[in-house]
Amino acid sequence: MNSMLATAQTSISNAARRIGWTPEQIKDFLKPKHSHHFDLTIAMDDGHEKTFKAYRIQHNNKRGPFKGGIRYHHQVDEHEVQALATLMTIKCAIADLPLGGGKGGIIVDPKKLSLTELERLSRAWARAFAPHIGPEIDVPAPDVNTGGQTMSWMVDEFIKVSRDLIHTPMQKYATFTGKPLDLHGSAGRTEATGQGGVYVLEDLLKKMGKKPEETTVAVQGIGNVGYYFALLAQKLGCKVVAISDSRGGIYAAEGLKSIEHILKHKHTAGKLEGVTGTRRIANEHLLELDVDILVPAALENAITVHNAPKVKAKAVIEMANGPVSSEAENILTKKGAVVVPDVLANSGGVAVSYLEWYQNMHEEKWTLEDVNTRLKKYMFDAFDAVWKYHLKHKVSLREATFEIALKRVME
Ligand code: NAD
Repeated sequence: MNSMLATAQTSISNAARRIGWTPEQIKDFLKPKHSHHFDLTIAMDDGHEKTFKAYRIQHNNKRGPFKGGIRYHHQVDEHEVQALATLMTIKCAIADLPLGGGKGGIIVDPKKLSLTELERLSRAWARAFAPHIGPEIDVPAPDVNTGGQTMSWMVDEFIKVSRDLIHTPMQKYATFTGKPLDLHGSAGRTEATGQGGVYVLEDLLKKMGKKPEETTVAVQGIGNVGYYFALLAQKLGCKVVAISDSRGGIYAAEGLKSIEHILKHKHTAGKLEGVTGTRRIANEHLLELDVDILVPAALENAITVHNAPKVKAKAVIEMANGPVSSEAENILTKKGAVVVPDVLANSGGVAVSYLEWYQNMHEEKWTLEDVNTRLKKYMFDAFDAVWKYHLKHKVSLREATFEIALKRVME
């Protein structure tokens, strides 16, 4: 079994036992409701045919349609997709969205395909899985190496082949989220995960009795999640002192001046190094800075037993998926640090996906302000519920998150 699936299942089994589930109930919950796979054969640009393995795992739909992304990666495997689908059930439940958990994938290295080959492959996915998805059945979204363009191809193909007579044309667009704005996408979707994390930060600071102006933050990663987290944390008033990409980071004790400017510099210079008023720091060093809040927003296993003893942050907000190993979390917790788990901290993305689905289903179009007002409420309510539960039951924030989510699924 893949290690991600084993870790997810262990967290769930432990939480389920603590809330009194029987071994049969746990076994039943862990088993995905449906596992669909197809071999997708497409014509390559040079005329020969190639076949790719594709998956859609529908874990649980007790709270609503299955929901989760589709990733394109050469290392995708069925167990990994199952782990991610299972965690989507937890994520949607903790955000209190009326959605279940699912995930899809294709074993492909997208960098080796031309744009037209990618289009053929994406359309083939939508055609093959069309009988198993739909606005009230299963609603896929982008994930690693997929985005608005992929969703546009897929939704177009789905509408062409779907024999669904119940839904209006606009409602059929609700079958996929993460669509471009001009194809019934939602305002705020691009920055949703980072924005959701900053709402969690805002509430966490209140609970820690700290003002944003007196809070220092270090962010690992300046991709979609890390960039918007850093930008919006700075707008909240925090001092973002460091940020990094895969090549290294930059640091300014007084706080980085403008995150927007830093991204522009990275685009023109091809690296972060060289921004006026900053100095270069190594990736390992960023994680060990003496800051209030550390935000791993790049990869899994960034903090392990090897570097956890050197982490000085008072709180770690997991914006990436699985950035803190369970052994590392034990070390951090013993030192008194708070760890906000990924399924809670990065649930802003799926929350806005739900709002996109809702707008399509109700033929509405909301402003960014409308979307963010709702997103803020989802994130504040979720974090507050987890915080209160962890204090009441003397468990970690991760344990509280899993226990609350499982109770909600069972209800
Ligand atoms: P991305 O590819 O846009 O960005 C990743 C960033 O991490 C890049 O800037 C890259 O240079 C940097 N990076 C890679 N290795 C690094 C290293 N060793 N040290 C420092 N920086 C490094 O990805 P993303 O969409 O921002 O996603 C980041 C994480 O958040 C992933 O774990 C993803 O699964 C998770 N996540 C993303 C979303 C979303 O909506 N995009 C939602 C939930 C979870």
